[in-house]
Amino acid sequence: MIIIVSAPSGAGKTSICDALIKEDKNIVYSVSTTTRQPREGEKNGVEYYFVDDKKFKEMVKKNVFVEWAKVHNHFYGTSKKVLEQTINKGKDILLDIDVQGAVKIKKQYKNALMIFITTPTLKILKQRLIKRNKDSMEVIKTRIENAKKELTYMPKYDYLILNDKLDESIENAKSVICAERLSIKRNKNICGGKVK
Ligand code: 5GP
Repeated sequence: MIIIVSAPSGAGKTSICDALIKEDKNIVYSVSTTTRQPREGEKNGVEYYFVDDKKFKEMVKKNVFVEWAKVHNHFYGTSKKVLEQTINKGKDILLDIDVQGAVKIKKQYKNALMIFITTPTLKILKQRLIKRNKDSMEVIKTRIENAKKELTYMPKYDYLILNDKLDESIENAKSVICAERLSIKRNKNICGGKVK
């Protein structure tokens, strides 16, 4: 199963994704390639593969990516090979990607599970961005404007997690994944494919 998780910046997506990966050994994280600079503590090949613009463009030409997009002025792409290999191994793959990438994946993989995470209100989102003390007010303003655009994609997703309390949101994300795994549409090959 492909699990797509998208969220406006500051909604708590990384914390939720980290918990899912840590607690469920059947879920593999899809490490994207990006042209943005590594942040403090980020390691090449762990959070991202960090490349320059020239290399990214070459990779696009060579069809390395199943989807790629420009987000906040940098390029990000998902490896086609890793995606296919992970699915073929029977594992679930978690894609932490933006709304543009999510739509592109869904077009190619109709069964992809799409989860949207946001805060109960934009005011709370702004407060969280201010509290984490990583961005200037200018950047925060841009992120809120981007969040408004990202929210317009919400109807394309299957599930919404309103991240008020982190623990509850993690439980909700786990429940969504559990329910999807048990869904009839994902279990049609059971009992020797007798289920039509
Ligand atoms: P950040 O640079 O803060 O880690 O991520 C910025 C945004 O890029 C996030 O919304 C993240 O989900 C998105 N992103 C990360 N990897 C990919 C990718 O491979 N493809 C797309 N389309 N978006 C990505």
